[in-house]
Amino acid sequence: MSKPKQEDNWRLYERLVAALEAENSGIELSVTPNARIKGCISHKARQIDVLIDARWGDDLSRRIIVDAKFRGRKLDIKDVESFEGMMKDCQAAHGILICPKGWSASAKRRAQDAITIKLLTLEEVEEKTSWASFDECIGECYQNLNRRSQKGLVLWDADHLLRINDLWAIVFTGKCDVCHNFHIWCWDCHEKFAISDEGQHECYCKRIWVSLIEEEIDDPTGKTLNAVHLLLQTGSDILPLDRRRLR
Ligand SMILES: [Zn+2]
Ligand SMILES: [Zn+2]
Repeated sequence: MSKPKQEDNWRLYERLVAALEAENSGIELSVTPNARIKGCISHKARQIDVLIDARWGDDLSRRIIVDAKFRGRKLDIKDVESFEGMMKDCQAAHGILICPKGWSASAKRRAQDAITIKLLTLEEVEEKTSWASFDECIGECYQNLNRRSQKGLVLWDADHLLRINDLWAIVFTGKCDVCHNFHIWCWDCHEKFAISDEGQHECYCKRIWVSLIEEEIDDPTGKTLNAVHLLLQTGSDILPLDRRRLR
């Protein structure tokens, strides 16, 4: 797609940073733009510019959170400290702070091993990425267009090469950065579609795509949603494609 019109620069920056991280992550990592997960310490919903998690497993040691700090001043030590608190709350093993104006010497010292600080201007991040990795949401944002102030974009963060009935199939998957619906692009039948959580869809080539919510009760407050899975059902086989963490 071409560059969206009338988008605030900070939003553009966040979106392009998400695309850049998706390009740099392998298929085994799932990249969620504008993610929301429940903090393990605060028990509150936390907004994360880019959440990078193990795509199939439950391995939190691979979790990375990215904060795109689009502002007109340098990062200071307080920014790094509050980001470190956010990392703990989100159980992230690593954190990446991306800013266009640089940082103070004390901020750099405070960042230490678990935090990487990167300097990227809006122009630089625009040069390194492309709007080709985005599409307009055709899920809940589109269906509820009149009720939502903002329509999301889908970041295609994975191209899967799947072995189905002894043939290779190419499938792209992604997530909307506003309604978070999974999106699928099946290359064999060319159908592009969205699946709501706990929904399912049969594409033109008769493959069945399913989104399932996994519930886990390990929280003193009771039942907690753990993750939303995206699965492909072909005959008796079920292939896991993606997993969107909810906590
Ligand atoms: Zn959407
Ligand atoms: Zn298909």
